[in-house]
Amino acid sequence: MYIEREKKRMKKITIIVPCYNEEETIPYFYDEIVKYLDSNYDWHIILVNDGSKDKTLEIMKEYAEKDKRMLYLSFSRNFGKEAAMYAGLEASMKIKSDAAIIMDVDLQDPPSLIPEMLKAYEEGYQHIYAKHKNRKGANPFKAMCSLAFYKVYAFITKDKQMAKGARDFCLLDKKVVEAFLKIKDYERFTKGIYHYVGFKKKCIEFDYVERVAGTTKWSFKKLFHYALLGIREFSRFYEYIPKIFAWLTFFLLGFDVIYGIVKHNMNWSAIRLDAFMLLLFITLFYICRLIYEVRNQVQNRPIYIEDESNVDEVNEAE
Ligand code: UDP
Ligand code: MG
Repeated sequence: MYIEREKKRMKKITIIVPCYNEEETIPYFYDEIVKYLDSNYDWHIILVNDGSKDKTLEIMKEYAEKDKRMLYLSFSRNFGKEAAMYAGLEASMKIKSDAAIIMDVDLQDPPSLIPEMLKAYEEGYQHIYAKHKNRKGANPFKAMCSLAFYKVYAFITKDKQMAKGARDFCLLDKKVVEAFLKIKDYERFTKGIYHYVGFKKKCIEFDYVERVAGTTKWSFKKLFHYALLGIREFSRFYEYIPKIFAWLTFFLLGFDVIYGIVKHNMNWSAIRLDAFMLLLFITLFYICRLIYEVRNQVQNRPIYIEDESNVDEVNEAE
């Protein structure tokens, strides 16, 4: 009875683990993670099976039998890691978690960082995320592309926080999860969404770790499309393209006119072509802007996200 009551007061933390063809890695993950489940908290682990074709689901079920903290959720097909994280977070709210931790199953997100994350959480941070100190040991080409992407992304979207190697590995307070779930973007770029929703953040750095078993599920093509998605969803990048061309043709037009005046020899057909191109690019720029406005409305992202308020106290007092 006493223990039960004690347990009620404990904060409930849920770990969300997306898994795609991970039959080899789940046992390693389980053996490692259980070492870090601090007994001062009420733990659950939700393994999300993202349409695996191997024995991932069977293995998940075996662990669920053995350990009541182990839960699973299985997709009808592969929807991608973003969808798996979303589903896991939604499930963590269904079981009334106070906070959620997202991590990969391959132990590239070291469970040994969890105590540090919990410490930051208790200090009042609401979004604690992990990032690589450096990419020593990682595929150099992938590391170079990743660095280039973060630089371009930070420049275009003005999101400096996400820059340089932030992982999906993080601890999220319930408020952050609720805000995150309100963003219904179909094509999700989770790292951009975290920046968009805000809240008090802390970064924890760690050294690159190799996958414990199995192979990466992210091909270069998939990563490239994902990078473009991030830029598309969190900037107005495509609006800049006609704008840049409009400025270029504007200078060309100016040059042709000045050149004609100085040389007393106007090339009217070149000037007409410049003017026509200029009008065309300005029109395109406005069409792109209109499309962004329509997109923003269709995405239906919230106008604001609340952290704290005492407004409800008025109702409670009455
Ligand atoms: N993953 C997933 N769905 C996918 C691809 C990957 O749930 O379509 C999971 C995968 O099982 C792993 C995590 O996402 O737990 C990260 O994938 P991976 O290790 O292959 O990526 P990398 O670390 O090489 O970037
Ligand atoms: Mg990995």
